[in-house]
Amino acid sequence: MSAKVSRRSLLLALGGIGLLAGCGEDHASWHGGDIPGDSRPGDAASPDPSGSPLVIPPANPPTPGVCPSPGGLGPKGPQYTLPCHGTEIALTVDDGPDPAYTPRMLALLAQQGIRATFCMIGRSAAAHPDLVRRVLDGGHHIANHTFSHPMNIAKLPASAVRAEMAKATDAIAKASGNGYRPTLFRAPGGAWSQTVLAQCGTQGLRALDWTVDPRDWSRPGVQHIVSTILKQTHPGSIILEHDGGGNREQTLTALGVVLPRLRDAGYTFAQP
Ligand SMILES: [Zn+2]
Repeated sequence: MSAKVSRRSLLLALGGIGLLAGCGEDHASWHGGDIPGDSRPGDAASPDPSGSPLVIPPANPPTPGVCPSPGGLGPKGPQYTLPCHGTEIALTVDDGPDPAYTPRMLALLAQQGIRATFCMIGRSAAAHPDLVRRVLDGGHHIANHTFSHPMNIAKLPASAVRAEMAKATDAIAKASGNGYRPTLFRAPGGAWSQTVLAQCGTQGLRALDWTVDPRDWSRPGVQHIVSTILKQTHPGSIILEHDGGGNREQTLTALGVVLPRLRDAGYTFAQP
């Protein structure tokens, strides 16, 4: 699990949790400040050239290509892609629900006719049950993204992992008003471990990862988000975005540019 350690080191080096430091290490206090979103190392954020016009690269044609290789946790590891031989891609939206940004994300997706998967933090779902219901009413799916978004769930003992998952499922089910229980689990930061995967199995959750990550949570600039998604998306891609955890203006602006272009290129949006 050294890769996960280096992920944390990188996040620290990037200053991605700089604001969090002011809140102490207790992740329970992330509300009101940025939280490091769900990214893996190796794709450092680049600043937005201030004032520069947006350069929009063309979307890749949705022609069958080489399937991305799965991650390193073996055949029982998380799902990184959809089937890569068709036109399907998936949009996943993490770290909500958030009263400022989730409604705007829902409006954008409705306008574009796109259904996504919202990976919700259980504690936030409990705080905003109206948003949970609005997400479901929009035809979107909800995945379990832990109850409190721990910094590194891969390092937690099984009992804590079990509680994070179970509490989130219960919170989402209660908030939904109709007993909706997620069937997907996304580890915060992609911090998978055999313990996490085993608990997914025990709790009837499929482990869901991603393949396209513009690190929108770090606010790298609209240009970076747009370029990364359009250049890296191929059939089967699972795109990672965020509607909570901090200011998501860049995310919303970028998706407003990207989503119609992906759709017009022939991609269809599926739910894993
Ligand atoms: Zn997250």
